Amino acid sequence: MSELRQNRATKEWIIIASERAKRPHDLKKKREEREKLPQLEPSCPFCPGNEKMTPGAIWSKKKGKKWVVRVVFNKFPALIPEGEPERQTRGFFLKMNGVGRHEVVIETPLHNRSLGVLPSAQVEEVCLAFRKRFLDLKRDKRVKMILIFRNHGESAGTSLVHPHSQIIALPLIPSRIRHHLEEAMRYYDDHGSCVFCDMIKEELSAKKRVIYHNDGFVGFHPFASRTPFETWIVPQKHDASFGNINIAFCKKMARALKSVLEKIHIRLGDPDYNLIIRTSPLKDREEDYYHWHIQILPRLTTPAGFELGSGIYITTIVPEYSAEYIKGHLPRTKRVKNKMN
Ligand SMILES: [Zn+2]
Ligand SMILES: [Zn+2]
Repeated sequence: MSELRQNRATKEWIIIASERAKRPHDLKKKREEREKLPQLEPSCPFCPGNEKMTPGAIWSKKKGKKWVVRVVFNKFPALIPEGEPERQTRGFFLKMNGVGRHEVVIETPLHNRSLGVLPSAQVEEVCLAFRKRFLDLKRDKRVKMILIFRNHGESAGTSLVHPHSQIIALPLIPSRIRHHLEEAMRYYDDHGSCVFCDMIKEELSAKKRVIYHNDGFVGFHPFASRTPFETWIVPQKHDASFGNINIAFCKKMARALKSVLEKIHIRLGDPDYNLIIRTSPLKDREEDYYHWHIQILPRLTTPAGFELGSGIYITTIVPEYSAEYIKGHLPRTKRVKNKMN
C-alpha cells in the first residue's frame, strides 16, 4: 500500500511507497574510507599549516596560538562582495549583479572528524561561529537572506572532505523559499498560530516520530519526510530568525545537533547528508508566522525524474519506523513493517 502525506508547513506532498520498502540496514552504506583518512592531510587547504592556501580569514576562534574554528572567504564564490545588486532588464530578460557573500566555516583542525563525531564543545564552537557570522552579515544592507548549510559527502555535493559548512548571504529571496514563507503565512492567517509551533506540539504529543528532546529543542522525523531519515531540529521557543538566538540557546542547539548527527552517524554508518538552517528573510525576523529550524536530509536514495518533475518525493521508509530505528529501539535486521498509523 502506498500513502500520500502532506507537510503542513511547506504544503509539499510526499509518497510513502511501502511496497518498495527497504530495511534501514540495506540503505546503510560502507563509509569506512572517511574514518581511515589521516588527521592531517598535507594537500588539504583547510588543514592547519595550510592557511595560506585559502583566501584570508574573516574570523577565527583560537585556543592559545592554534585556531579551533576558522571562517574564510570561499575561494570559488557563488557571489562576490563588491558592487550593488541592481536589477537590469534587457527587453524581456532580467538580470542582476551576482553580489553577496560566500563564506566557509572550517569546523575543526582535524581533517577526518566530522560534526557528528566531534566532541560537544567543538560542535558548540561551530554553532557559535554560525551565530557570529550571521550577526555580522545581517548588517550588510544589500543582504536579504542568509543561508547556512552543510554538504556532507560526495553525493551531498561536497568537493573537499575536510569538515566544513558554508554561509551564503543573498541579495534576494529565492522563489522556493518565498513559496514556503507564503504557505507558513497562509497557515498563520487561517489558524492564528505558527505552523511550526503547532507541529512540534503535535509531534511531542504523538511521541512516535520524536528522536530528541532537550529543554530548548525537539528533533523529529517529519510526518511527511522527503527522504528516509529526514530530520528536523526545531527550537521550542517561537523565533522567526536564527539571528535572534542568544549564546546560551546556541549552546543548547549544539547539544541537539551533536546528538542527532551522532545517531545518524552510528545507526546509518556515516551517510552523506545535507543540512540546512532554515530561517526567515532578515526583514521578517520578528514575525509570528515563520519559525527557524534545522533540516537534515540524508542522501540514502537519489532523487530521480519523478522527484524533479513533480516536486513530490517518494520515500521508502515510514518516519514512525525510521525514528524508532535511529533511537536504537529496533534491531538493525528487523524487517520494515507497514506502519502507517
Ligand atoms: Zn584537511
Ligand atoms: Zn513558531
